Amino acid sequence: MTSQWEPITVLAAKVQAGEAKAVDLVERALTTIQKKQEFDVVIALAAQRARERATEIDAKVAAGESVGRLAGVPFIAKDNFLTFGSETTAASNILKGFEAPYQATAIERLEAEGAVCVAKANLDAFAHGSSTENSDFMVTKNPHNKTKVPGGSSGGSAAAVILDMAPFALGTDTGGSIRLPAAFCGAVGLKPTYGLVSRSGVVAMASSTDVIGPLTRTVEDTAAVLDVIAGRDELDSTTIDRDKNPYVDLGGHVAGKKVGVIKEYMTDGLDKEVKKQVEVAIDKLRAAGAEVTEVSLPSLSLALACYYIIMPAEVSSNLSRYDGQRYGFSHPDAKSLDDSYNWSRSEGFGKEAKRRIMIGTYVLSSGYYDAYYNKAQKLRTKLINELNDAFKKVDFLIGPTAPSTAFAIGANVKDPLQMYLTDIMTVGANLTGIPAISIPAGMVQNMPVGLQLMAPQRRDRALLELALGTEKILG
Ligand code: GLN
Repeated sequence: MTSQWEPITVLAAKVQAGEAKAVDLVERALTTIQKKQEFDVVIALAAQRARERATEIDAKVAAGESVGRLAGVPFIAKDNFLTFGSETTAASNILKGFEAPYQATAIERLEAEGAVCVAKANLDAFAHGSSTENSDFMVTKNPHNKTKVPGGSSGGSAAAVILDMAPFALGTDTGGSIRLPAAFCGAVGLKPTYGLVSRSGVVAMASSTDVIGPLTRTVEDTAAVLDVIAGRDELDSTTIDRDKNPYVDLGGHVAGKKVGVIKEYMTDGLDKEVKKQVEVAIDKLRAAGAEVTEVSLPSLSLALACYYIIMPAEVSSNLSRYDGQRYGFSHPDAKSLDDSYNWSRSEGFGKEAKRRIMIGTYVLSSGYYDAYYNKAQKLRTKLINELNDAFKKVDFLIGPTAPSTAFAIGANVKDPLQMYLTDIMTVGANLTGIPAISIPAGMVQNMPVGLQLMAPQRRDRALLELALGTEKILG
């Protein structure tokens, strides 16, 4: 699919030079959203605010003032980012009608460079899911085939980019939610190093793995967005220093790079056709001069179990703030505080949020804390150690992003465990905090395949370089 959008840096340069108008770019985005409504991508438009901001940017250009590195570039934010100009719901009934009192740091940074948020994208409610079917509002359709899921939880963001609604979208990745939909929709999706992008103003899911990242059509565009949102923020104490070099203007060479193919990802449960595509990509890397070897990380086979203990534990804690008193839905018939808590949460939360609250509360309860939560934390440490050892031998790891291409809408909704298995290749990077990116690597039966590349913590720039090189080779 070709795009109506030029590369982000080109668009911004044209706006800066007065050769393109921010208002026209915003209208183009809004028109495309309107035309492609049947994919159920967008929860809310921020049309009025977007038009006002675009008008301001054009006026500044006319007055010779500086307008920023992303001047006039429209984007779509997953609806778990606090933004002005529309509600922020996290696709949950419990937050319906919620108007953010401040904006997420990532949004503020993008706006400071002239980018314009035009809409909020659908997601699995509270980002719990792998298909966007857990949204309380609607099920987003895959741009390549409307009977299939777009992946999740940032399914709306990935679909938006591939449907050409905007040059980029923002997503969040707690266990794969940027990379999986990127793979299923044929987009580029980056999960940066834990802490590289501030999460201030993003609805918290599991705080020890939550990260923010871009979804785009190209690695170059992803780099342009990361370059604006990365870096320390006093509003998020987990943030780290960004690379002192820019994340843009990368060479993209792969020759001589030491790349380890993750053995555990290439065997059990991997679709044969997907495997073939990944092997073709690996062969091309090798042919281009990369030093490819096989790497084994035995604990990875337990990463999914580990994630589905730690994540719900943190979810149960993070969701306790939605009690009907301060945010969103409050049950109108409750006469006592206890009833208000109980009824607001019972009616406000969907099935999946409740499931996670119950599992999380269980694994944290005094009788089971050691058996589950503590054990999972120990395993997490073991995984980190294995990974550190692997990164002594190779600079990068490679494998598929998901065990299959996008599945049919409805195929896994009645079987949460089957749904959780979709995350088997993505959760490892979250538990260990390393950066990982999914880039398109061909098609299987007209559905995109995602290739996943990973690097040690804080090596996001090197990862983008390898991704750019790989993207070039794969064509
Ligand atoms: N699919 C995973 C889950 O449901 C990951 C979600 C995410 O990264 N937000 O937990």
